[in-house]
Amino acid sequence: MSSTHVLPDPPAEPSAFTDLGLRPELLAALATLGYEEPTPIQREAIPPLLTGRDLLGQAATGTGKTAAFALPLLQRMPDDRAGHDPFALVLVPTRELAVQVSEAFHRYGKDLGARVLPIYGGQPIGRQLRALDGGIDVVVATPGRALDHIARGTLRLGNLATVVLDEADEMLDMGFAEDIEAILEHTPEQRQTVLFSATMPARIDGMARAHLTDPVRILIAREQPVAGEAPRVRQSAYLVARAHKPAALGRVLDVESPTAAIVFCRSREEVDRLTETMNGRGYRAEALHGGMSQEQRDRVMGRLRAGTADLLVATDVAARGLDVEQLSHVVNFDVPSAPESYVHRIGRVGRAGREGVAITLAEPREHRMLKTIERVTGQRITIDKIPTVADLRTRRLELTQAALRESLLEDDLDPFRVIVETLSDEFDLMEVALAAVKLAHEATLPGSDEAEEEIPQVAVRPPREGRPGGYDSRGERRPSRPRTAGTTQVFIGVGRRAGVRPQDLVGAITGETGVRGRDIGSIEIADRFSLVEVPVAVVDEVIAGLRGSTIKGRKATVRRDRR
Ligand code: AMP
Repeated sequence: MSSTHVLPDPPAEPSAFTDLGLRPELLAALATLGYEEPTPIQREAIPPLLTGRDLLGQAATGTGKTAAFALPLLQRMPDDRAGHDPFALVLVPTRELAVQVSEAFHRYGKDLGARVLPIYGGQPIGRQLRALDGGIDVVVATPGRALDHIARGTLRLGNLATVVLDEADEMLDMGFAEDIEAILEHTPEQRQTVLFSATMPARIDGMARAHLTDPVRILIAREQPVAGEAPRVRQSAYLVARAHKPAALGRVLDVESPTAAIVFCRSREEVDRLTETMNGRGYRAEALHGGMSQEQRDRVMGRLRAGTADLLVATDVAARGLDVEQLSHVVNFDVPSAPESYVHRIGRVGRAGREGVAITLAEPREHRMLKTIERVTGQRITIDKIPTVADLRTRRLELTQAALRESLLEDDLDPFRVIVETLSDEFDLMEVALAAVKLAHEATLPGSDEAEEEIPQVAVRPPREGRPGGYDSRGERRPSRPRTAGTTQVFIGVGRRAGVRPQDLVGAITGETGVRGRDIGSIEIADRFSLVEVPVAVVDEVIAGLRGSTIKGRKATVRRDRR
């Protein structure tokens, strides 16, 4: 029978947001968002940042780094903000991140009345001018557009208390080093400077030495392997866009058919939303989070043990100390914020010689965090393709076949003989069997797969070192090479004669669209045109973005490459 007992404490001693010295308005915002406890980077970064220290942090997307700098920054926002000029500037590599980070500031700083503005290339400058003119507290900008505004005198940095360089390695990869230097020159010398980067190459170190003063150093991507702590479990991950995650979870679970599964979410809010969605898909899902009373939690656990629930949707805090024997699957609805948390979560399956499965749904941008987890655990996480509708159909047929086989071996089928005999006067035996199988299939697996929609597969290639390749040293096109699956080429009618360099194309695409540098494939620059390889899923966005902008001061023809 199953039992509940307390697991050993997770490796990092948890502390609460209230222990970090945050003001009540911020704590209230975090409670509304359903964040139950700080992530490791937040635990380490928030206290020194609150005291005004500079900070150099190595942390990838998915670790909670945005809140790690946004919360202390908001806390330090002066109360008398009559002035118009911003007190904080966050530099980010892409438009996508600018929007995301400023949304995070909005969410956390609502009760403090923080005025936050993202500024990036591609958006009409007029709107940004009006907003800046009305007075702004925090500007989140891509370097190029920030510099434009500084040159126009519309972004004044004389009052800055804090500058954050977010995803600094990515900004350097995209050729923004000079822009960043130029921007920093316009900021007060006694400012607080915060630099986050997923990797720490020598160039980042140099940048930190030049611009940070006695920084606190935080390394979250811990490199020492803790192999041995992680149990032997089949570990796989699916790369999927956020919007498709609930559907992907349903699809994966349909194919895996777990005995009982626990799905980990980051916040209470997500737990509630996902529980509802999964119930809508026919799962018997139960929510478990820190906002529930002990009695409510006991009731949920009782249902899981009794088999009247088959899916537990939980936060880390709520699931701490729970051990459910019949769990076959652990699912990370998001990549956990630290490798230790991953290890702790998947430790709930694969015990005592039983087979366990750990599944992680990762957004393409969280790919790097998966690599970090692999490095820390010393175990491989296979990237699998989300089952297609055809896969799902095949799997459902397999389940029906297994059920029929069992019935043929175990059941007393005699009472039904008369039906088959009667029908066989009129129909072929094979036809009779087919109709019976159809009925059995539909009865055991309600929910037609007709309604199922394909979930787009996203391909992510490992980040490349250095600049994109694909052209030779003279800038000539290389002979056509086979392209990576899932990508296509965009033709841009400017090339070497116009002085176009790969970084100009990468900069234009990432500045104008939500596509990130690492998603761009080979770049080929010929005399009069260039070809850029991009994922099929974003090709229209790339074309629209480039058509609306200039490259090296020129408007160029942009279209899908037809050759
Ligand atoms: P980031 O690494 O900053 O991109 O954050 C990753 C995601 O984690 C974002 O969706 C945040 O909203 C979420 N998040 C950040 N901190 C916490 C926390 N302490 N608890 C739950 N979710 C969080």
